[in-house]
Amino acid sequence: MKRIGVLTSGGDAPGMNAAIRAVVRKGIYHGLELYGIKYGFQGLMEGNIEKMEIGSVGDIIQRGGTALFSARSEEFKTDEGQQKAIEQLEKFGIEGLVVIGGDGSFRGAEALTKKGFPCIGIPATIDNDITGTDFTIGFDTALNTVIEAIDKIRDTATSHERTYIIEVMGRDAGDLALWAGLAGGAESIIIPEKKEDFQDIIDRLKRGHERGKKHSIILLAEGVGSGFDYGEKIEKETKLETRVTVLGYIQRGGSPSATDRVLASRLGGRAIELLMDGKAGRMVGIENNRLVDYAFNDIFNGSNTIHDEMYRLSKELSI
Ligand code: ATP
Repeated sequence: MKRIGVLTSGGDAPGMNAAIRAVVRKGIYHGLELYGIKYGFQGLMEGNIEKMEIGSVGDIIQRGGTALFSARSEEFKTDEGQQKAIEQLEKFGIEGLVVIGGDGSFRGAEALTKKGFPCIGIPATIDNDITGTDFTIGFDTALNTVIEAIDKIRDTATSHERTYIIEVMGRDAGDLALWAGLAGGAESIIIPEKKEDFQDIIDRLKRGHERGKKHSIILLAEGVGSGFDYGEKIEKETKLETRVTVLGYIQRGGSPSATDRVLASRLGGRAIELLMDGKAGRMVGIENNRLVDYAFNDIFNGSNTIHDEMYRLSKELSI
């Protein structure tokens, strides 16, 4: 294998640039030629492809977002779209592709692999919702952004003796809310994986208030529904003044944390190793601080589980 392409796809995540840099530099170090594909699978179909040099990825390790830009493409989900992509890859003489993104992007990578074009996936999403890796690139940075916000809201919550609901991202996964709740000292955490605990949350808020608690902070994952709906219900049930803050896209931006940069660099490096070893249709990940890789199909069939011990602990610590 001589020429390798790299693209970012789906939602952006802080650390994607560090992953691009690692893929490009590691590839060049081993004598490969690297090609950057702009705007994900959409750009691939359109032939938006450029040769990358060592300097192409200079000064990006510390930047959020993605220097290769990202896109979503419905056309690429079709057989025709995928044929177009393969034609472009052949035109440029590219023999392997690294796809940096979420599980949707890996479905695209799997489709290309099945058509005979070797792809390797690198998990990058702030949601941490991908099986086969303890952490996805971007999760740690987003978590730190949420913590900063919680600390600020806590000041107001204490001054006004209110209940604050902070809605965070995560799609169907509660990881961001759970970790932020634990690290931010939240009173309660509402996540899709534990939806049935709503009455318990009400009881805890009431008990806390009776005990003289000045404020309560509730971390809510977007996957359970709207924070505003929960705010209304909680205010009605507890009779406590309740405010809602939806953190939104600020969670996706910002300079990647050191942890995310290291993770992205390690995963990027391993992706190149796998392609050089002739592997295809696999995602690289990290488990117990060791690099691992799994077939895309195992990733699609697995389910992202919540950390039960952490969830229980968060309740024990917020009595
Ligand atoms: P995030 O979780 O951050 O949103 P993602 O990678 O899951 O990232 P998606 O929008 O689901 O984001 O997927 C990105 C792109 O991957 C899609 O726009 C599409 O081009 C391609 N893709 C998704 N699903 C498939 C599929 N089943 N077959 C082929 N391509 C797909």
